Amino acid sequence: MTGRVIDGKAIAAGVRATVGEAVTQLPAQPCLAVVLVGDDPASHVYVTSKGKATIQAGMRSIEIRLPRETTEADLLARVIALSNDAEVDGILVQLPLPSHISEPTVLAALDPLKDVDGLTERSAGKLVLGKPGLRPCTPVGCVILAKTERPDLAGANVVVIGRSILVGKPSALLFLEQNATVTIAHSKTRDLKMVCRSADILVAAVGRPEMVKGDWVRPGAIVIDVGTNRVPAPDKGEGKTKLVGDVAFKEAIEVAGAITPSPGGVGPMTIACLLRNTVLAACARRGWTVPDALAKG
Ligand code: NAP
Repeated sequence: MTGRVIDGKAIAAGVRATVGEAVTQLPAQPCLAVVLVGDDPASHVYVTSKGKATIQAGMRSIEIRLPRETTEADLLARVIALSNDAEVDGILVQLPLPSHISEPTVLAALDPLKDVDGLTERSAGKLVLGKPGLRPCTPVGCVILAKTERPDLAGANVVVIGRSILVGKPSALLFLEQNATVTIAHSKTRDLKMVCRSADILVAAVGRPEMVKGDWVRPGAIVIDVGTNRVPAPDKGEGKTKLVGDVAFKEAIEVAGAITPSPGGVGPMTIACLLRNTVLAACARRGWTVPDALAKG
């Protein structure tokens, strides 16, 4: 048996089209500001993609790229200025920040109404309490992808490997919100393979290349691979690298009912959900009605 490939790029394109359509129904253009500190090449690529996608969706984009030696005080001043800027609807501070800057301190300075990454204490608290709010983008993308295969997640056994603030924990809570039965596994979980084999839906957010093997997957399960790991690719030439997920894709697709590739699965959904959150943030802040297409999603 070979599982279906869940085409994250195509599904993300659909979300982005819906966001673009929603933007045309708003009284003014929402604006997303992205702040990047340092010279990490991957982060610069992500920020460029986010900026382009924002403009393609018909919104305004502000990109602030600061040198690595930027002080915490300087960054805080920027974030506070964006928080106070009435024209800015969403703020994303690209993580990770250089080690001399405290991420919790910077996130605490962000206006929670503009927290389109869903990472502030206020957003996390609302998620835990089940109150409406801005949800973290990658976990929302995971749920949307799973629902393309299984629209009703009630009663599904979901195993999330990873308990990070960014991915694992919020993913588990979002699947719980869908009435799934959720297990969170992590580095201290005993017999991880057996835990994974109990999953109807297996979400891997570990950061370890191809750790999840084919025989960890229950036959017919839906596998959502969040992992994005750069590994050497000597077959492409000396010094070359490639991206792989946390799941051994070739093995797992032989067993799974459906599986996301990495790249091309969760990654594109993260950007699409960021755009969606920017519209939702703009509507909440400015008292606009959420356009129907987005309200349903
Ligand atoms: P993280 O903060 O490093 O968290 C990794 C989690 O995996 C931790 O909870 C850790 O457990 C657990 N873990 C590590 N080794 C394990 C093992 N051997 N067995 C079981 N659990 C293990 O990483 P993250 O930020 O959540 O990111 C996870 C992956 O997703 C990375 O590859 C990252 O690049 C990718 N990612 C992709 C997107 C996207 O848009 N596609 C977005 C964000 C992240 P402990 O808590 O016990 O240490």
